[in-house]
Amino acid sequence: LNLLNDMRRALESVPCIKPLCTYVDPHFRWQDQPLLPEFELHYQPQISLADGRITGFEVLTRWHHPERGTIPPVEFIPLAEESNMIIPLGIWVLVEACRTASHWPAGWRLAVNISASQFSHGSLVPVVKRALQLSGLAPTRLELEITESLLIQDAHSTRQILGELRTLGVRVALDDFGTGYCSLAYLRSFPLDQLKIDRSFVTALQQDASARAIVSGIIQLANALDLETVAEGIESPQEAAMLRDTGCRLGQGYLYAAPVPGHALDEFCRRYQQQ
Ligand code: C2E
Ligand code: CA
Ligand code: CA
Ligand code: CA
Repeated sequence: LNLLNDMRRALESVPCIKPLCTYVDPHFRWQDQPLLPEFELHYQPQISLADGRITGFEVLTRWHHPERGTIPPVEFIPLAEESNMIIPLGIWVLVEACRTASHWPAGWRLAVNISASQFSHGSLVPVVKRALQLSGLAPTRLELEITESLLIQDAHSTRQILGELRTLGVRVALDDFGTGYCSLAYLRSFPLDQLKIDRSFVTALQQDASARAIVSGIIQLANALDLETVAEGIESPQEAAMLRDTGCRLGQGYLYAAPVPGHALDEFCRRYQQQ
């Protein structure tokens, strides 16, 4: 409960709904001071398994609590979802990350996590449009990561919103794939662009023949459905090689880099490209 009040305070240092109002204001100008000083965006690279090149970054939010230190998203995102504070927080994440990505090389994409409640909130499509307009980021460079539960619980409205995003040109990835109950046959009926194979399968690859069979099945079917595949949580060169040889296109994980704070991103990219 304390943490919830602290989050409310952190978000209300500008009033809770202000991020939305601020960004929707036609006279909006980027400020020198961050709008939400306690929150920071980190970026984890996504890598082409064929040649090791960066293809984009996933943005991951951090909360630096003034007394408790850094609180991981597994703790504060569920609180933000339950209290609906995920709406203003999510708007801030989207707008700030699009602004950062607009300075990247044109081939790099930005992936943003979208909670179920954000996805189903009527503000998503207008907010995405506004974030693209403010930042000048091309829609095809933005990718929203959603989870399987949305496809199952809310199939009708999810299909409609996915259609609107597709019309905008924004890409959609299915996160944590394999942990929910979605069949690949069912997936076919939704306009999706990418599957992210959950870290639990990648971790099991080397010990477990059944994990290898599952991963290779997912990759083959995804390729057949024209869905791009990303493997999450790659920690060893052996895992990367197995995934590449099975036909997985992209990878993400500590083998390449942990999430990098926004202010250190330029330096990270310079070093990575020199390797
Ligand atoms: P996710 O979307 O599945 O993100 C991947 C998580 O795995 C991240 O944890 C990342 O730091 C971690 N990770 C990446 N590579 C490796 C690896 O090689 N090994 C291991 N063990 N872990 C790895 P993080 O940043 O703590 O985020 C946790 C979850 O919180 C995310 O899971 C996502 O669901 C949620 N989240 C984070 N930021 C946001 C946000 O801005 N909005 C929303 N709605 N959710 C967010
Ligand atoms: Ca994700
Ligand atoms: Ca994931
Ligand atoms: Ca996850």
